[in-house]
Amino acid sequence: MTRYSLWSLLRHARKGHEHWPRAWRSPVLRSAYDIVIVGGGGHGLATAYYLAQEFGAKKIAVLEKGWLGGGNTGRNTTIVRSGYLQDESAKIYQHGLELFETLSRKLNFNVMFSARGLLQLAHSVHDLQEQARREQACRLNGIDIEMISPERVQHMLPEINLDGRFPVMGAAYQHNAGNARHDAVAWGYARGADALGVDIVQNCEVKSMVVKKGRIEALETSHGTVKTGRVGVAVAGHSSVLAAMAGFRLPLASVPLQALVSEPIKPVLNHVVMSNGVHVYLSQSDKGELVVGAGADQYTSYAQRGSFATMDQILAPLVELFPYIARLRMLRQWAGIVDITPDRSPIISKTPVEGLFVNAGWGTGGFKATAGSGHVFASSLANNRMHPIAAPFSIDRFYSGAVIDEGSAAGVAH
Ligand SMILES: Cc1cc2nc3c(=O)[nH]c(=O)nc-3n(C[C@H](O)[C@H](O)[C@H](O)COP(=O)(O)OP(=O)(O)OC[C@H]3O[C@@H](n4cnc5c(N)ncnc54)[C@H](O)[C@@H]3O)c2cc1C
Repeated sequence: MTRYSLWSLLRHARKGHEHWPRAWRSPVLRSAYDIVIVGGGGHGLATAYYLAQEFGAKKIAVLEKGWLGGGNTGRNTTIVRSGYLQDESAKIYQHGLELFETLSRKLNFNVMFSARGLLQLAHSVHDLQEQARREQACRLNGIDIEMISPERVQHMLPEINLDGRFPVMGAAYQHNAGNARHDAVAWGYARGADALGVDIVQNCEVKSMVVKKGRIEALETSHGTVKTGRVGVAVAGHSSVLAAMAGFRLPLASVPLQALVSEPIKPVLNHVVMSNGVHVYLSQSDKGELVVGAGADQYTSYAQRGSFATMDQILAPLVELFPYIARLRMLRQWAGIVDITPDRSPIISKTPVEGLFVNAGWGTGGFKATAGSGHVFASSLANNRMHPIAAPFSIDRFYSGAVIDEGSAAGVAH
C-alpha cells in the first residue's frame, strides 16, 4: 500500500498525478471465507479492518450490494459526539469518539475529524432540565460537557436569534465533539482493510442465507454461493430484510431521514448546532455549504427520499433561529433509510442463528459510532463472545426489559 505523505504527493506531482495506485482492489468473490461481513458502509468496513488489524482474523470478505459508503454512511450530516444519558451509551459513543481522534493517523488517510465543539440548544425549562440531567450523567462518565448561558451561546454563534419564536435559554456544550468527513471514513477503512488482505466485493448483494441445524452455513449472493461459519450483518436500514432471510425478526422500524445542503458561503458557523426541540441540526462544511439535518419522517419506507412536510417543519424554525439562512439557496436534498429501535439504542448482538451476529438499530445517530462499533463488533466476531462494551446492546434486552432508553439524547436525528 502506498503510504500517503508529503513526499509521495511531491513524487506523484512530478508525474502529473497519473500513476497513483488504486486505493483498494476489486477482487473476485471466493467460494469460502472464515468471516463474512454483509454491508460495506462505515460499520461493516471498520469491523473488517479491526478484525484483520487487531484480532488477527484471516480470510475475511465484505459484501456490498451497491458501492462503498453509498448507504447512510455517505448520506449523513457527519456529527460526532458522545453526550448520551445512559452509562452503556456513554461507553460506546465515547469509545468511538476517542478512536476518531487518532483515526487519520492510524489509517494514513485524512478523515477530516474536526473537534469544533457542539451546542445543543435549550428552548424551554424542560429542555434545560433534561440537558442538565444529561450533563451530570455525562460528567460522571468522564465526558466533557457543560451547560452554558444564552449570552455565551450568542458569543459563540453571533448570527443566532435568541429571542424569536424558539427562544434560546442556554445550551449543553460538548467541547471535543464535531464532524468528520463521512466518505473518507468509509474509504480510509476500506483502504486499510484491503491492505490487510480483506476482500471487499462491491455490487454483490446477499439474497438469502443457508441455515442448517440452527447454524449459518453459507450466503447466496448475486455473485454466487459463499460458504462461511461466521457472518456479521451491518446493513443499517435493511437489517430486518437480512434477519428475515435467517428466519427471525428484529424490533426495528425503517424510516427515511433527510438532509440538505445550501450553496457554499464564507465561514459563518464555527460550531455544530443541534436543537432537539425543533429537530434540526446544522454545521458548515469545509467547502462552505451549510449542512442541515431533519428529524425522521413519520412513516416506514425503503425509498431513499423523504417528505416535503418534514423539510418544511425544520426549515421554518431554522430560519427563525438563523434569519440569514432565508437568503440562501439550497442545492441538494436527499434521504437515507434508518433503522430505529424502541429504546433508540443500537443492537450489537448474537442472534438465534449460531454464527450470525447483527450490528443494527443505530437509527439516526450511528455515524459517530462507526469506529467504536466496528471495533467492538470485530472483537465479538473474532472471539465468539460479545465485547463488554457491546454486551448490554444484546437483542435479549427486549425480552428482559433491560432497555437502554436514549429517547431524549437520540430521539432527535444527528
Ligand atoms: C440524513 C441522515 C443524517 C444522519 N446524520 C447523522 C449524524 O450527523 N451523526 C451520526 O452519528 N449519524 C447520523 N446518521 C446516521 C448514520 O448515517 C448511520 O447510523 C450510519 O451511517 C450507519 O452506518 P452503517 O455502516 O451501519 O450503514 P450504511 O452506511 O447504510 O451501510 C449499510 C450498507 O449495507 C448495504 N446492504 C444492504 N442490504 C444489503 C444486502 N442484502 N447485501 C449486501 N449489502 C447490503 C447497503 O447498500 C449499505 O451500503 C444520519 C443518517 C442519515 C440518513
